[in-house]
Amino acid sequence: MSDSYVLAIDNGTTSTRAIVFDRMGNKCGTGQLETTQIFPHSGWVEHDPQEIWANTKKVIEFAVEDAGVKPEQIRAIGITNQRETTVIWDKETGLPLYNAIVWQDTRTQQLVDRLAANADGSFDFNKLKEKTGLPLASYFSATKIMWIFENVPHARKLAAHNKLAFGTIDSWLLWNLTGVHATDVTNASRTLLMNLHTLEWDAELLRFFDIPQEILPEIKSSSEIYGISQEVLPGVPVSGILGDQQAATFGQAAFSSGEAKNTYGTGNFLIFNTGHDIVHSRNGLLTTVAYKLGEQPPNYALEGSIAVTGSLIQWLRDNLGIISSASEIEELAASVEDNGGAYFVPAFSGLFAPHWRPDARGVIVGLTRYVNKAHIARAALEAVAFQTREVLDATNADTGLPLKEVRVDGGMIANNLLMQFQADILGVPVVRPVIAETTALGAAYAAGLAVGYWQSTDELRSLWQEQSRWEPRFSEEERSRRLRVWNKAVEKSLNWVDI
Ligand code: ADP
Repeated sequence: MSDSYVLAIDNGTTSTRAIVFDRMGNKCGTGQLETTQIFPHSGWVEHDPQEIWANTKKVIEFAVEDAGVKPEQIRAIGITNQRETTVIWDKETGLPLYNAIVWQDTRTQQLVDRLAANADGSFDFNKLKEKTGLPLASYFSATKIMWIFENVPHARKLAAHNKLAFGTIDSWLLWNLTGVHATDVTNASRTLLMNLHTLEWDAELLRFFDIPQEILPEIKSSSEIYGISQEVLPGVPVSGILGDQQAATFGQAAFSSGEAKNTYGTGNFLIFNTGHDIVHSRNGLLTTVAYKLGEQPPNYALEGSIAVTGSLIQWLRDNLGIISSASEIEELAASVEDNGGAYFVPAFSGLFAPHWRPDARGVIVGLTRYVNKAHIARAALEAVAFQTREVLDATNADTGLPLKEVRVDGGMIANNLLMQFQADILGVPVVRPVIAETTALGAAYAAGLAVGYWQSTDELRSLWQEQSRWEPRFSEEERSRRLRVWNKAVEKSLNWVDI
């Protein structure tokens, strides 16, 4: 038994969790509550920020109780969160002006098109990529903030009176926990408003998106004391913040240049650490901040984001009803030998990396009378693996450092059939660590480092242990054949209608 612990809050897209970790990185207690998914229109995805905060308080209590520790034994709190998701609130009342607009939400596509048309020709889009590492897309926070300004009465007026706050979910939780309005570099790097070189809000970009600087949180490092918790775990410092994918990278101990991880959650995210270098992709990857520890220089990363992976399994459950829980998909898919010729490209929010085609739409191709729901289930799992292969190819091409194995985490890695197929289609081993809750663990590590609970990243690296490994089994010929068919299916998705 440790005498003290670190607690991580993990606000994912599907749920909010709190996990208590000990010094060895063992999970000692958890609390978890689902987040209500609000779909007001096609393409719109919202969360209720007040529900997220209420759930956060509850899951913290559950986790502390589950761990059987006293609140005063918690040394530090770390936060990790779904990135880009945008909350705007009134600083006086603490109330949100609108629901959180979730990263997957595509309502701002028209706004993006309007900006891209660049009516007066005054904006150089190469600069946007150069400064932020990101393409202009509805995925990131900037156009979500614009949408709120354009659609919520009084938002501008409140901003003019310095009463408005913007934050990604980390900021929203930090504000509610401590009263401090701040964010960390990794979350800020997903807004389209932060300059990767200076790690500050960029005046030119703020002008371009017409967003007043006053509403933005202060950008801090990923590991320092931001404030002291007041209502829950009173007196405990909040001392680590990392966006979920960066947190998973940290929790996988991928601290050095050339190390990478792949997370299988609502979407999939491969992060490749490029050390202190800002590497711009020529193959559709994003450039982002991996982490920054206190005063130390930041580490950067290349990222391959895939919008729809785990949420495809939810869709099979909720919209088609062919399974009643996500975990059932493995048995269903395993009841047939292969995909029966069916390929599923789940471009529900367009296609993200490496295509970046908002106009792409989902397709299932190769259907015959023979295909049944088990084949569709299998095609859905295979889609996750094929999309990951596309992203890995892009990373290998950009860095010239082909990955020799892939460290994995996230809710979907419980699926052995998927993990085996992933290794088969990648042609490199897939490796799962003992502690698969790497997202929460990464936030705990960042928080613990700031208060001296852990001493160094070397110490954290020594805690990483392998649990399972899946070796590739396909021949090169088999792998290429399947990839060729997948590419054909992607073409259909990109050109689903030609008018
Ligand atoms: P997030 O952090 O994005 O909320 P998680 O890492 O918790 O996501 O993963 C949840 C996702 O994993 C859900 O979308 C769910 O459909 C999917 N999932 C969970 N268990 C399985 C399983 N056994 N097989 C396939 N998908 C699964």
